[in-house]
Amino acid sequence: MLSIFCSPSRYVQGRDATASLGEEMRKLGLTGTALVIAGRSARKLLQNTWAESFGEAGIEHSTLEFNGECSRVEINRCKEEAIARKAAVIVGAGGGKVLDTARAVASDLNLPVVNCPTLASSDAPCSALSVVYTPEGEFQEYLFYKKNPDLVLVDTTVIAKAPVRLLVAGMGDALATWFEARTVFNARSRNQVGGAPTISARALAELCYKTLLDDGADAVRAVSTGSVTPALERLVEANTLLSGLGFESGGLAVAHSVHNGLTMAEETHAFYHGEKVAFGLVTQLVIEGQPREEVEKVLAFCVEVGLPVTLAQIGLHHLSSDVLRKIARRTVAEGETAHNEPFEVTADAIADAIVAADSVGSRYRERHSNGAAVTPHALPATR
Ligand SMILES: [Zn+2]
Repeated sequence: MLSIFCSPSRYVQGRDATASLGEEMRKLGLTGTALVIAGRSARKLLQNTWAESFGEAGIEHSTLEFNGECSRVEINRCKEEAIARKAAVIVGAGGGKVLDTARAVASDLNLPVVNCPTLASSDAPCSALSVVYTPEGEFQEYLFYKKNPDLVLVDTTVIAKAPVRLLVAGMGDALATWFEARTVFNARSRNQVGGAPTISARALAELCYKTLLDDGADAVRAVSTGSVTPALERLVEANTLLSGLGFESGGLAVAHSVHNGLTMAEETHAFYHGEKVAFGLVTQLVIEGQPREEVEKVLAFCVEVGLPVTLAQIGLHHLSSDVLRKIARRTVAEGETAHNEPFEVTADAIADAIVAADSVGSRYRERHSNGAAVTPHALPATR
């Protein structure tokens, strides 16, 4: 098996980075007509800056508002618009689902793609794959592309003004990165691009975890006051670049499969990807039989920043055995990354691990939380 590492061609991050979007695209030769697929708030916040930045760089552009779900229907709608507008470059601006859609459109049309995440809520922006959902919000499939984005541009001024809960959700996604990559590495399984993980990917995944522990809580405080600080910059890099490289070139395991399983329960749809991944990670540590000390370090971090560690915290207050079975079966479906573990992972073992993880998480919270999370996990959910 060959070792494979992949990454976006260029990564740009910093205060007011959007003002340099046109210039950064020009430097990469991406000067054709751009179609900006944008979430509603991204558009409201940034359209004037886009007009200025594209104008200065001499790039024609138009914008298209995203419909809210990365589904086959939405991908096709955006594709038709891109063809009608003769787009030569696709720019995605917004949350993970907007960027997933932009990458799918660009890949189908063989066009270069630029990703401008306005949230640090997931590890999607740097990757060469999209997560596609049904229009009802259930996990449907991964789409894999020939290459990673040509440019990922992250404006930390915008991210600092986004809701704290989204940054924290991104930390949940990033938190799993090291543990999943470690499993894939040790099990000699394949990463998300079908190769063996390189030691570089392993090191980046580990740095991702270390950065969360060092800067996570401070970054939450920075975003609570809308401030861009060095801790926030490092944390955003961990959520976006390190987690992105770490999951794709390092590989995924049980944590993300449990996320996919959880989407089978409608009650979880109001919760973000990274929130479900955080619970999935606790499940992974339980099923792997990791030492208590390690599990508690992860739980301590989750409780401190406000990530869910129990089923109730992701909407599953009363989990019937039927729904649990459905979740467990989906978690071990053919092709799921749960099978990257070095042992056989069955639906029964997953169901037990989910229940045990919930109990471990609940007990930890009883003993340690005292409502002390930096961010209360009781905000209105929008997905
Ligand atoms: Zn993820």
